[in-house]
Amino acid sequence: MDECIFCKIVNKEIPAKVVYEDDKIIAFDDINPQAPVHVLLIPKEHYTSLNDISEENKDLLGHILFKARQVAQEKGVKESGYRIVLNTARDSGQDVFHIHFHVLGGRRMTWPPG
Ligand code: 5GP
Ligand code: ZN
Repeated sequence: MDECIFCKIVNKEIPAKVVYEDDKIIAFDDINPQAPVHVLLIPKEHYTSLNDISEENKDLLGHILFKARQVAQEKGVKESGYRIVLNTARDSGQDVFHIHFHVLGGRRMTWPPG
């Protein structure tokens, strides 16, 4: 997707603080962190949201979740706790329409979310 900001990060057309990368996914620090640890994990392939993922792609979701846990460990919040957020479509507050998992940690989270 030419105009997608996260595709541009995948293609290294705009910079990001990459914390993990393999052939399928990339993880990088959020530009506007909402917690001391705030990392985004995205597939390198463009999918608009969870609603755009078909059953054939479901392994990708498991891969991202496992790597999210690894990122939490490497950022030092695995044991203290972290929240994984997957905003999907308008009412969730999704702003960037390339599926991304947030990993938030390093402070006490509240519930319910806003
Ligand atoms: P959403 O609201 O769509 O779930 O979250 C989008 C996230 O992407 C936000 O937390 C926002 O700060 C982050 N973001 C938007 N543009 C950029 C960017 O160019 N670089 C990085 N690293 N994060 C971005
Ligand atoms: Zn994209």
